[in-house]
Amino acid sequence: MLAERYPYYLANRPRQPNAELAVTHKYSGEVVTRVALADAAAVEEAIAAAVRAAGPMRKLAPYARQAVLEHCVRRFRERAEELALALAIEAGKPLRDARGEVDRLIDTFKAAAEEAVRGGGEVLNLEVSQRAAGYRGFTQRVPVGPCSFITPFNFPLNLVAHKVAPAIAAGCPFILKPSDRTPVSALLMAEVLAETDLPEGAFSVLPVRLEDIGPLIEDDRLKLLSFTGSEKVGWELKARAGRKKVVLELGGNAACVVDEAPGAPLDVIADRVAHGAFFQAGQSCISVQRVLVHASLYDALKEQLVARAKALRPGNPSDEATTLGPMIDEPAARRLEGWIQEAARRGARVLAGGGRRGSVLEATVLEGVPDDAALSTEEAFGPVVLLQPFHDFDAALALVNSGRFGLQAGLFTQDLSRAMKAWDELEVGGVVVGDVPSFRVDTMPYGGVKGSGIGREGVKYAIEDMTELRLLVLRQA
Ligand code: NAD
Repeated sequence: MLAERYPYYLANRPRQPNAELAVTHKYSGEVVTRVALADAAAVEEAIAAAVRAAGPMRKLAPYARQAVLEHCVRRFRERAEELALALAIEAGKPLRDARGEVDRLIDTFKAAAEEAVRGGGEVLNLEVSQRAAGYRGFTQRVPVGPCSFITPFNFPLNLVAHKVAPAIAAGCPFILKPSDRTPVSALLMAEVLAETDLPEGAFSVLPVRLEDIGPLIEDDRLKLLSFTGSEKVGWELKARAGRKKVVLELGGNAACVVDEAPGAPLDVIADRVAHGAFFQAGQSCISVQRVLVHASLYDALKEQLVARAKALRPGNPSDEATTLGPMIDEPAARRLEGWIQEAARRGARVLAGGGRRGSVLEATVLEGVPDDAALSTEEAFGPVVLLQPFHDFDAALALVNSGRFGLQAGLFTQDLSRAMKAWDELEVGGVVVGDVPSFRVDTMPYGGVKGSGIGREGVKYAIEDMTELRLLVLRQA
């Protein structure tokens, strides 16, 4: 059960003003709780507090940062079921997916606790010519300073963790603006952070209206903006971000190539593709959207995938038997239903699904979708997968590269030279061989190229973005 209302956290402390934001159950549509809403004055207060906290955070010893992160790990374990329920209610995730997200939250904080005490630098040989005889160099990483974080609805805990946990490990104060559709999970995380000895002002978690959010993007006292969300918003924010570093984790329409000798039984491939396409109603930035299958395997894989799509059980995410939850809201489901209908009008065949009830869209499989249809070129961000046969491996790679996104790609092949070729030639942040593009663990470098963003998350890599290299040169007389 959720509480009746949740405070926001400003400079580590809860605050409950009059202004509130209603949060709905994503299956029933009912208002289930309310969260405190910050205004422009609260945003200014949080920035000023974060600026004051930058020195104390920088000086917080690595073992003390680690202790904070370890406390969070313990408390998240104790509160795991409560966190999973909150995710099921506010994000519409089937409970089993919600529990998986809580596990990943814990993995992310554990990884950050380990990184917090690593933080090594380099010893550099500077004696590259007579001019530098007797000189040596050393590097260390220092925190960039106060950061601002903006996060989406689809992984309201773990994507928040991917910013918060590295910031603590790196020694950066931060202000987080969670998605207005799923703010409760981040506020539950803030409750746990407030139990720690983080310096005052080290963190604020503020649900905020868009008209009051400007300083979190534009204010130069903030040294880094890390945004996870849609392509359109992300690039717009980068243009307004001034001198600060910007990390953008944006959308995609991930492809998976199934080669003629795929190196795995077709039923295993069908299981993985169905999971990658329909897991959390396809609302993952690396959801499988396009499957390019060698013509020799096409019909057999199609049959297996269609059977798996039809076997899913749509319903209330809080019900243990549900395997396909709702999309985030009805307009999102209507938008995607419209794209399916457009593709069908232009000759595509709907092999499974296509129907919608409220915000629940059936798991949908299509073939023959025109290359320039929205379903091919845009991010579906829903439980929809497109099948397409190919004869020539190079042509399949070209098709993967043809869009404007580039997050991750999957490849089933047992041919090592083709695997290496895909790794060399696919314009993406990561290539997954032997599985679908939706594979992610929380320590690996993760992020996109082209329209899908800039920078990498994955704890160690996020810490690199949240720190600057500082050089020491020593001349020995
Ligand atoms: P969104 O872009 O609508 O919103 C993301 C966040 O930005 C929310 O907190 C929202 O309130 C805020 N926002 C929206 N407009 C804003 C504005 N004008 N100024 C400042 N903030 C603004 O995205 P969403 O619908 O919540 O999430 C889905 C998108 O996120 C998809 O495109 C998905 O691919 C992407 N995503 C990417 C990753 C990744 O790691 N690459 C992970 C998850 C989701």
